[in-house]
Amino acid sequence: MTNFNLSKKERQNLINLIAKRLENYYSDSNTFRVSPELKKDEIISLARQFDFSEKIPLEKGINILLDGLEKFTVHTAHPMYYGLFNPRVNFASVLADWMTAVLNPQLAAWSHSPYAIEIENYLIHEFGKKFGYPEQSIDGTFATGGAEANLTAVLCALNHHFPKFANEGFFGLHKKPLIYCSSESHHSIIKAARAVGLGYFSVKNIATIDDLKIDISELEKQIEEDLQVGHEPFMLVGTAGTTGSGAIDSLPDLYKIATKHNLWFHIDAAYGGAAILDANIKNHLNGIDLSDSITFDVHKWLSNPMGTSLFLTSNPSILSKTFRVSADYMPREAKELAIIDPFTHSIQWSRRFNGLKLYLPLLFFGWDGYEEVIMHQTKMGELLKVKLKDAGWKILNDTPLPIVCFSDERFIDDPNFSLSVCQNIVQSGKSWISIYPIKGVNTLRACITNYDTQENDLDNLVHLLNQERSKFLNK
Ligand SMILES: *Cc1c(COP(=O)(O)O)cnc(C)c1O
Repeated sequence: MTNFNLSKKERQNLINLIAKRLENYYSDSNTFRVSPELKKDEIISLARQFDFSEKIPLEKGINILLDGLEKFTVHTAHPMYYGLFNPRVNFASVLADWMTAVLNPQLAAWSHSPYAIEIENYLIHEFGKKFGYPEQSIDGTFATGGAEANLTAVLCALNHHFPKFANEGFFGLHKKPLIYCSSESHHSIIKAARAVGLGYFSVKNIATIDDLKIDISELEKQIEEDLQVGHEPFMLVGTAGTTGSGAIDSLPDLYKIATKHNLWFHIDAAYGGAAILDANIKNHLNGIDLSDSITFDVHKWLSNPMGTSLFLTSNPSILSKTFRVSADYMPREAKELAIIDPFTHSIQWSRRFNGLKLYLPLLFFGWDGYEEVIMHQTKMGELLKVKLKDAGWKILNDTPLPIVCFSDERFIDDPNFSLSVCQNIVQSGKSWISIYPIKGVNTLRACITNYDTQENDLDNLVHLLNQERSKFLNK
């Protein structure tokens, strides 16, 4: 009979095999091509080579899979990956993820996993405090990513502004509900608006000023206009660290407008929220404590494996108002206790213990360790800006976060310049950078997103860039 347990000996051998292979990957990450060759047909046949009728020994299967993953993945663990906030993962959180998979605590109901849930509650409390929320009002939930956290925010905003929303939805509303954010904000806000049934046109993308922050006077003008034609603004989203260029909206100004118009004030700090741990730049997040809610991805700058984000709120009753349901089949052992079952408090029902991936590294490295790692990356970002300028590149964004958008003044009107430089570098397998358009210029974008990126890696990147540029100069 099939035994999903495997034998003790088999388990030991497989654990040893995986430990060895993953250790090689972890310690030799910089020996891989940063980005794969996109050989679509080869990749599809690799994925489909088995029909599951013939059984494959697990050792063999594991080796085939790891070979394929090593060959056909962008390696964010590589110090020359200058990408989209995807981290090299800290090892303690890898161990936590494994522990979570084996014990598999079910976090839907408090009585099933009380210790795990209280660990998450504690983390929510401590991060709420870091962001400056008053202690007695901190609440929140772990989410799978910024997209889920932003969707949670839209639902909370609707339920706050329209108290009948949980029962009646949009039926019974006479005015069109509107969300405001900048044109640089993340598109998960639009997806959230679609998911709740508001649609794309209910999101007002406000233009930005020169440094790509939301234009406050445009925002005020738009709200006034919308009120005049009888619409109902209900939510304002500020971004603290835009995905493209790292711009941080003026949060105190947004707070004033949100208060004046009775809007739920959400801050999308999916990436930039980690700046709260860097004493040199945390002042750029001033005003975040005044928000109604915050999205903060643990799987970005805190270097966690995918699937971990925080939704924090300073309104302690809104999650219950938004998500409370009662279900007869759920456990009742804890009904006499003053506890909250997470399934009444979040979008998810069955829930993985993602909080352990944050708790174990905090035990091991402490706040100090996190602060050092964040500050190192910010410093590398500053250094990269200096090195690029020294090599004659022009920087086109302005942020304290380690994101640089740049081009060469001589080729600023040639949209192919950046595209070709970027493509050649990525295809060489030596580094990964991207393109981000700023005010009509295709800029090259490099972000320090790997805590192992050191000064010599920056020199290597500048060297690659200079090489590609010289091809244009010699044309
Ligand atoms: C990455 C990002 C998101 C989306 O988060 P996921 O974790 O990818 O779902 C939302 N907002 C901002 C500002 C981001 O950078």
